[in-house]
Amino acid sequence: AKAAGGDRFVFYTREMTDRAETRLRLESGLREAVASRAFELVYQPKIEAAGGRLTGFEALIRWRHEGTAVSPADFIPVAEDTGLIIEIGRWVLEEACRTATRWALDHGPVPVAVNVSARQLADPGFARLVEQVLQRHGTPPNLLELEITETVIMKDVRHHLPTLNRLRDLGVRIAIDDFGTGYSSLAYLRQLPVDVLKIDRSFVNDLPHAPDIASTVIALAQRLLLSTVAEGVETAEQRHWLAEAGCDCLQGYLISRPLAAEAAEAMVMTAFAR
Ligand code: C2E
Ligand code: CA
Ligand code: CA
Ligand code: CA
Repeated sequence: AKAAGGDRFVFYTREMTDRAETRLRLESGLREAVASRAFELVYQPKIEAAGGRLTGFEALIRWRHEGTAVSPADFIPVAEDTGLIIEIGRWVLEEACRTATRWALDHGPVPVAVNVSARQLADPGFARLVEQVLQRHGTPPNLLELEITETVIMKDVRHHLPTLNRLRDLGVRIAIDDFGTGYSSLAYLRQLPVDVLKIDRSFVNDLPHAPDIASTVIALAQRLLLSTVAEGVETAEQRHWLAEAGCDCLQGYLISRPLAAEAAEAMVMTAFAR
């Protein structure tokens, strides 16, 4: 520490200490949460753009820590860094499969999508884990969809390809999340065993005034026989534009916020009631 600029030094040090402390608290809280299973899944519906029929749900993790909800955008990166994501991810997978199976038995089959992080996908045991979880819960594989962000897949396509192929062979559906935000090599995209492109919310947000990216993704998906889901649909104008443009499915606050399991189940029940 230098005497000159001492004030600044102290200021920065304190700020860094605060940040490090926050981070440590988060980390130890997360460890406890993993041990005590203090997480919950909420389920956001997806519907057909043409017609509005329920087509599935995305499972999103929730964590209440010291009385407040911590955003997954804040704690998932910490879970990634610490490796805790492996155990958290396993719990998410188990819980989503258990739920999808129960809904299928009680009401009817509705796929549930689970977010997969970089570290989970890179784990050599990941495909085997998915297989075991499906077996353990008697889950028909087509009820499970895995959402992997474009950045994660494309960062090391050749490394991930065997895992993706194994997952596809199990009969699990694969979606590329946040599509359009990374760099997809078109050559790779054609070779990848994927079923769904999820148009990133930022491009949906641009609708209807700046539709270039959304149009391009929909055209590309149609060309490659992939289905499209628009995420973050918030306005009737966006919904209308997407339906007209031939986007297959919609997800977003306009349709529904993520729901607690019971409320999501009520939607499933309604969808199959007649
Ligand atoms: P994501 O996978 O892109 O999920 C979409 C996020 O957008 C969710 O935030 C969802 O609640 C939110 N959202 C949905 N519709 C709208 C809308 O119309 N407008 C706006 N502004 N937002 C909308 P959430 O639940 O906070 O999750 C944030 C991110 O955290 C997710 O982004 C995903 O990357 C990660 N995440 C969430 N759950 C899990 C999980 O179980 N495992 C892993 N690995 N990551 C997760
Ligand atoms: Ca997602
Ligand atoms: Ca997304
Ligand atoms: Ca996102």
